[in-house]
Amino acid sequence: MAGILCLVPTPIGNLGDISIRCKKALEDADFIAAEDTRVTLKLLNHLEIKKPLISYYEHNKQVSGPKIVERILAGETCVLVSDAGSPAISDPGEDLVRLCAEAGITVTAIPGPCAAITALSISGLPTGRFCFEGFLSVNKKSRQEHLSSLLHETRTMIFYEAPHKLQSTLQDMAAAFGADRRISLCRELTKLHEQVVRMTLGEAVSYYEANPPRGEFVLIVEGAKEEEKKELTIEDAVQLVARQIESGVSKKDAVKAVSKETGLAKNTLYDAVLKQLG
Ligand code: SAM
Repeated sequence: MAGILCLVPTPIGNLGDISIRCKKALEDADFIAAEDTRVTLKLLNHLEIKKPLISYYEHNKQVSGPKIVERILAGETCVLVSDAGSPAISDPGEDLVRLCAEAGITVTAIPGPCAAITALSISGLPTGRFCFEGFLSVNKKSRQEHLSSLLHETRTMIFYEAPHKLQSTLQDMAAAFGADRRISLCRELTKLHEQVVRMTLGEAVSYYEANPPRGEFVLIVEGAKEEEKKELTIEDAVQLVARQIESGVSKKDAVKAVSKETGLAKNTLYDAVLKQLG
């Protein structure tokens, strides 16, 4: 009989957050697939658990994934962990879950630490409807396309970000969504220096210029107001293009992205941009 794949979340900063069920799943597993075996070994040592580890991460998943599936089909139970938080959420795992499901293997997950949900819950922004956007790309064009695709997003948005990219991300967000949009910056969650900074995007740009960001961040950004969505004029669209140009996107690409998002005809928008921005 085939074994199962069990996704086990691990602490995002506080070892006390490992649950009794997670510990038991790790103890009961035949082997553990880990994003970084050295990181997981530290956790296992803390829990006094000894288990065979196999590495499963972005750059070996094509080879490692099928091997894991084969072992589970042969009857072994595999626990999948990432370095911190819930596997498969901006972490390796998505492909392994798909492979296992396709092979008819039972996949189960134990609920537990996830930076996105922890941050959302303490953000002070609406939690009724939200969307998870993960990391913005470092590539300027895909980054702008991603932000443009969110211009009309009315749900609260969740982003992950590394500290060294925070300032440019805040500038790009302020340019795309407007400086008055509210944001909650949730830093070092569950750790000693946990902090939630609630302000506008414009204020956040100045704040982090004066206070260089340190530690891990989740950004919770307020969604667009329904009125903003309905009242978008050609002048507003030109301003959106202007902001994108300011952040380094070419005029042509900015017009293309904004026209796609707003539904305004590309030529009309391009003419208005030429007239107003030159
Ligand atoms: N799978 C993980 C989860 O469920 O939270 C997320 C992994 S993703 C590669 C790592 C990102 O999560 C970090 O860059 C940061 O944005 C966020 N993150 C992880 N731990 C955090 C913490 N303790 N405080 C704030 N953000 C954190």
